Amino acid sequence: MSTENNQEYPLQFLKGIGPKRAQVLARYGIETLYDLLNYFPRKYIDRRHIVPLDALHPEEEVTVIGKIEAAGVRRTRRNLFYITISDGKGILEAVWFHSLSYFKKLFNIGEWVSLSGKVKFYRGYQMVHPQYDRLGEGEIDNFFNTGKILPFYSENENFKKAGLNSFTFRKIFFHISFSELDEIREFFPDYLIIKRNLINRQEAYMQIHNPQDPEQLDKAVYRFKYEDFFYLQIMLALQRMHAKSQPLGTTFNKKSRRLEQFYRTLPFELTEAQKKVMREIRQDMRQSAPMNRLLQGDVGSGKTLIAVMAMLIAIDNGYQAALMVPTEILAEQHFYTVKTFLANLDINVNLLTGSIKGEQRRFLMHEIQSIEPQIIIGTHALIQESVDFKSLGLVIIDEQHRFGVMQRGLLMEKGIHADVLVMTATPIPRTLAMTAYGSLDVSVIDELPANRKPITTVWRFDNKAQEIYTFIMERINAGEQAYVVYPLVEETEKLDVKAATEGFEFLSTGPFRQLKVGLLHGRMRNEEKEQVMRAFLKNEIQILVATTVIEVGVDVSNVTIMLIEHAERFGLSQLHQLRGRVGRSHKKSYCILKTPYNIGDIAQKRMRIMTESQDGFIIAEKDLDLRGWGDFFGTKQSGMPEFRIANPIKDREILEQARQDAFELVQQDPYLRSEHHLRLNNIIRTQLKDRMELINIS
Ligand code: ADP
Ligand code: MG
Repeated sequence: MSTENNQEYPLQFLKGIGPKRAQVLARYGIETLYDLLNYFPRKYIDRRHIVPLDALHPEEEVTVIGKIEAAGVRRTRRNLFYITISDGKGILEAVWFHSLSYFKKLFNIGEWVSLSGKVKFYRGYQMVHPQYDRLGEGEIDNFFNTGKILPFYSENENFKKAGLNSFTFRKIFFHISFSELDEIREFFPDYLIIKRNLINRQEAYMQIHNPQDPEQLDKAVYRFKYEDFFYLQIMLALQRMHAKSQPLGTTFNKKSRRLEQFYRTLPFELTEAQKKVMREIRQDMRQSAPMNRLLQGDVGSGKTLIAVMAMLIAIDNGYQAALMVPTEILAEQHFYTVKTFLANLDINVNLLTGSIKGEQRRFLMHEIQSIEPQIIIGTHALIQESVDFKSLGLVIIDEQHRFGVMQRGLLMEKGIHADVLVMTATPIPRTLAMTAYGSLDVSVIDELPANRKPITTVWRFDNKAQEIYTFIMERINAGEQAYVVYPLVEETEKLDVKAATEGFEFLSTGPFRQLKVGLLHGRMRNEEKEQVMRAFLKNEIQILVATTVIEVGVDVSNVTIMLIEHAERFGLSQLHQLRGRVGRSHKKSYCILKTPYNIGDIAQKRMRIMTESQDGFIIAEKDLDLRGWGDFFGTKQSGMPEFRIANPIKDREILEQARQDAFELVQQDPYLRSEHHLRLNNIIRTQLKDRMELINIS
């Protein structure tokens, strides 16, 4: 390998790979040797200790060695292949329920094998589908499934088909000479290596794939966790450093007359948290450095109002303000709300979404391209299309978690140096917010308006449907309204719509035939959607059957019941968002999670968490726990960092270390020009270039 040791080295020529496997790996983004090295094991099992066969206990994970005394196919309810092994002290049977003929050929009586797996007791000690090694002559010192700490790699169907399993990965990594690989040479400066007691990078790669003992493995794991966090933190440190040094933004100095007027006529008092956040935003807007703030606030905490007030400041300073939301329905709703809020203030409010077409669209474009101060509300069509803003001073991005960070980049690419306020209802702990949203300043609305009553949340099985309908009838007879949400059936909107449509048919002709039932989903025409929403707002429709389109933002305060069908199919954050659609007034509200009787363990946990807590912070943390970091923040397109091994929740301490080190480093050497940062500089340019495009560190 020494002659080919560069990261472009085609994987197919590596021992154990070949063209077919290389193709499969490439499909999963593993194209270079470097990618492969960074395909880390998902777990390890310590199989250094071989247990004698007279010392077995049921349910223990162990490794044993023995000679095959008997082997064959046994005809039972399901045919199986078995071998019986003995080590002179005891015996154990191993069974396989598939590939019988394969195993029949594989194992020969008289041969030694090692088996690893969980011990069961079934008319004697047994292992089902154990890991195995056939221990031929000379192999005893060099086998892959026993006698070591064994790495296990994630597999998927396509990997399996190509024979890429943990065993093959172990073999592949066994044949790589880590010490000769240039691209995994150390890049941390010596002073950090010493400060954090890091093992060398090449050594760490070797230990992560071929661990020698638990101590070395721990060191390798620590190093890569630190490295994962460090990459991110150095990027954030650089972003922050360079953002602060470019005072390109707008200064909103003028006192906003209309803001004051608006404030005076509000029918309620702002919460203390809202006031605090408003002060922070005003402060930012007054400065010439562009505002770059994240506003976190649980569902119903009143973020829209903050958005409206911030927009008034921009307007009164002679600029345009845009509010971007993730769905058309939400855009329409915000448009309606904002217009109502501002009815007496003589402010031009415009709505621009993808489905506004033709003459109307041309007219709107013309409006927006003028420099007239105005509020523009829309979906991301606003920045994706060729809208040429002439005096955009403020951009507010609502429900950020649905957008991803990258869209911010899009704004900047368009040369928009407006102040940016990003709002999210996915509250996450502050340290994590720093990790996720990085260089943004963070404001938190940590209190709900005072008139809110807790929402009673219950979990009911499908066989209680009748009782649920009766209960809903009662509330509706008392003048209240209800949502019934049908879930994503699969990853396609079409099926989603089908479920809701069928639910609508059933409810409107069955249990609720005396009532007005409405249907709302993303595939309806705009006018239809608007009509339904209007009717629902006026209580001309009592029950709104919907897909998850109502998840974000929708605000109808007379609705007191949220019935979620197949609640087991939703994630925690989504359930919490949906629940946030009720409990928006002084009336008592209910959230009913309806599921079949048999649902998985994790789904059960989600249901329980929902019934136990209504605090978005707690729910978000539990959600993170259940789903893990990558999933929590959505797919790659969210622009969130993907860690190979680090977990910002469990490894928070390491995160803090990396953060501190990275920020100190950038403070001292903002362009990474000093000699001991050269390799680091190099690594950042090559590894992180996609994320670093906004920064020039040359
Ligand atoms: P969020 O977007 O944070 O989920 P909204 O902005 O939709 O929440 O606000 C929820 C509801 O609470 C709206 O009807 C809004 O008018 C109302 N509201 C906002 N602030 C207050 C307040 N301080 N007191 C009472 N009601 C408020
Ligand atoms: Mg909102």
